[in-house]
Amino acid sequence: MKKPFVTKEQLEKIAETYPTPFHLYDERGIRENAKRLKEAFAWNPGYKEYFAVKATPNPCILRILRECGCGTDCSSATELMLSDAVGFAGREIMFSSNDTPVEEFAMAGKLGAIINLDDITHIPYVEKALGAIPETISCRYNPGGVFKISNDIMDNPGDAKYGMTSDQMVEAFRILKEKGAREFGIHAFLASNTVTNEYYPLLAKVLFELAVDLKEKTGVHIGFINLSGGIGIPYRPDQEANDIAVIGEGVRKVYEQVLVPAGMGDVALYTELGRFMLGPYGCLVTRAIHEKHTHKEYIGVDACAVNLMRPAMYGAYHHITVMGKEDRPLDHKYDVVGSLCENNDKFAVDRMLPEIEKGDLLVIHDAGAHGFAMGYNYNGKLKSAELLLKEDGSVEQIRRAETAQDYFATLDGCPMMKKYL
Ligand SMILES: *Cc1c(COP(=O)(O)O)cnc(C)c1O
Repeated sequence: MKKPFVTKEQLEKIAETYPTPFHLYDERGIRENAKRLKEAFAWNPGYKEYFAVKATPNPCILRILRECGCGTDCSSATELMLSDAVGFAGREIMFSSNDTPVEEFAMAGKLGAIINLDDITHIPYVEKALGAIPETISCRYNPGGVFKISNDIMDNPGDAKYGMTSDQMVEAFRILKEKGAREFGIHAFLASNTVTNEYYPLLAKVLFELAVDLKEKTGVHIGFINLSGGIGIPYRPDQEANDIAVIGEGVRKVYEQVLVPAGMGDVALYTELGRFMLGPYGCLVTRAIHEKHTHKEYIGVDACAVNLMRPAMYGAYHHITVMGKEDRPLDHKYDVVGSLCENNDKFAVDRMLPEIEKGDLLVIHDAGAHGFAMGYNYNGKLKSAELLLKEDGSVEQIRRAETAQDYFATLDGCPMMKKYL
C-alpha cells in the first residue's frame, strides 16, 4: 500500500490558500532519506552526494539538501546559477554536462565546480574557456554494449550518447595530465531507475576496475569515483524499495576487493542521485473536475501532462490515491486525464480506483523528481505552484504558479500583446 505523506484534511486546508493543482514536497521525508544515504556510505571518508538539480530545480529544496551535506550536480548554465544562488561553491558543485556550450564550461570554471568531461574532444574547449585545464577534473565513461543486472533490469550504454570508450579514457587522462591536471575522477551512468540493490555494486565493480587500469596505464592520482544517478524508486505499489544500507554495504565489499588491494583505499566515492533523493517525497495534488462516460470511463482532473510529463512521455506508472477513499473497494476502471489536446495526456489508463466524484482530491504519487521539472507550456498551459510541507506541519509556497503574464513575457516586444502583459 502506498500512503500519501499528508491527510485529506491537511490537503483541503492547503487548497483553501493554494488552489489545485500544485506540487507538494515533504521536508521530513527528504531529510530522513538524505540521512540514511549518508549513513550507508559513512564508511567512505570522502563520500558526498551531488544532488542532480535537474530532478527538482527549486532553491528551497536545494537548501534543505545542502543542510543535509549534499552538493549539486548541474548540467546547464541555469542549474549552475541556482547552485550559486543557494550558496554552493567550488567542489560542492559537479558539472556533468554533454554537448556542452563553451560558455557553460567557463561559468563552471568560474564557480570552481568540478568539471566532468563527456568527451575527449571537449578538452581543448575547457582549456580555452578556463584559460587552463583545472587541477581537478573528471571524465565520463561508457563501456558500450548492454548492461544487464537481471532479466528485467538492463540498459543499453552502447546506444547512449554519453561518455567515452575505455581507450579514450586512457588517452584523455594522458592529455589532461600533461596539461596540468593533478586529481582525476571517473564517472558513469549505465542504468536508470533501477529498483534493485545490485546496480550500484555492479557499476562500482566496472568503475573500480577501470580506475585501477587507468592508474596503472597513466600513473595519475584518482581522487574520486562518481557512481552518478540511477538508484530507482518503487513507482508501483507491488515493487520493493531499494535498501540503501544494503547498497552501501555492497559497494563497500567491492571497494575492499578491488581498490584497497591496488593501494587505492583513499579514493572518495560520489553519487549524483536525483530520483532517489526526491521522487517519493513529492506529489502532484489535483482535483477531479469532470467525469465522462463514452467508450470508456474518464475522470478529468485540473492537472495535465504539463505538470507531470512522465506518464505521457514514457507511459510511466504513477500511483494515485483518491483522498478520503483509501479504504473503499477499487471497483471502478478509469482513465484519469488532463485537458491537453493530446491523447497521451493520461495520468492513468484502465486504472482500478474507488468511485471518484467531482471535487475529490487526488494525490499522484512519486512526483518529487523529474515531475515539476519536466514541465512545459504546450497548449498554453501554465505551470503549477510548488509547496513545501515543513517539519513543523506548516506549508510554505516555494514557487508560485505561473500566470498568463509569465507565459506571454517573452512577447514583450510585440505591441499586440500589451493588453495581456
Ligand atoms: C539525470 C542524471 C542524474 C540523476 O539521475 P536519477 O535517475 O534522477 O538518479 C545523475 N547524473 C547525471 C549525469 C544525470 O544526467
